[in-house]
Amino acid sequence: MAGSASSTGDSPNPTGLVRLNLPTPRNWDRRLRLACLAAICLAGIVALLLAPRVPLGPGYHDFADKRTMWGLPNALDVLSNLPFCIAGVWGLVWLLGRSGRSAFVDPRERVPWLIFFAGVTLTGAGSWWYHMAPSDRRLPWDLLPMTCSFMSIVVVTYMERVNLRAGYVALVPMLVLGASSVVYWRVTAALGHGDYKFYLFVQFFSPVVLVLLIALFPPRYTGMRWLALAFGLYVAAKIFETWDYSFYRHLRHTVSGHSLKHATAGVACWCILEMLRRRRVVAASRVAAEPHAAYHRTGLTLSR
Ligand SMILES: [Zn+2]
Repeated sequence: MAGSASSTGDSPNPTGLVRLNLPTPRNWDRRLRLACLAAICLAGIVALLLAPRVPLGPGYHDFADKRTMWGLPNALDVLSNLPFCIAGVWGLVWLLGRSGRSAFVDPRERVPWLIFFAGVTLTGAGSWWYHMAPSDRRLPWDLLPMTCSFMSIVVVTYMERVNLRAGYVALVPMLVLGASSVVYWRVTAALGHGDYKFYLFVQFFSPVVLVLLIALFPPRYTGMRWLALAFGLYVAAKIFETWDYSFYRHLRHTVSGHSLKHATAGVACWCILEMLRRRRVVAASRVAAEPHAAYHRTGLTLSR
């Protein structure tokens, strides 16, 4: 079983001063917090269904850095996927090893993390394949594994913070939903009216749900700083991606925004692995205020 940490979270209070118990959303009634989560998710889904079709822009497959190096086309956009592959394989090796097997309060929590790191590994491979010759035909191999990682991290956060059993049951349907967003785009694109909005929703709404879960429900584990760092790197990756050509120009054609995006997002995945490797179970006294938390129903006790 995983070790425990101070009841104050990531670190003990070194000052010895009394902490102020300021009201936070986590202090709200649990039913109110669940209602907030459900209402925002519902609003997002309604907005998605009402939104017009989003076609893939004509320049989607046009990336700034097209240099061939060592016989490899689009070399840096291809090679910059290595951090994904390294973080993904490293994560899988750790999860399948002895440390990974004993790092969770409930062994079911390990399953979505295995899918997350398998998704990261395959994202590296799929993105490598796509960037060799970017096209509609190759794009799903880049996007499909990413949806698995997005969905599994949302589900595991729900399992850890809200309801373990419900999250575990929802894992496969959520993975199917995520994959469907890519399949839907590919099928509609083949019919001449490609609609990318469902995939965009998966990519942008997953972090929103993640932030909501973290803001509304107390953690089972410490390690939030690593997750915050990963989130910051993800935001940076989106900035690099958006201004691919600008970064390439301002960096004097050494490296493009898209290559930096790959590398930054790959490091973000490594930060998530570091979070898993370093975190500890939050002490029982702290989670006792959450009487419906799933781990109370599993019959497992938290180590101190
Ligand atoms: Zn890419």
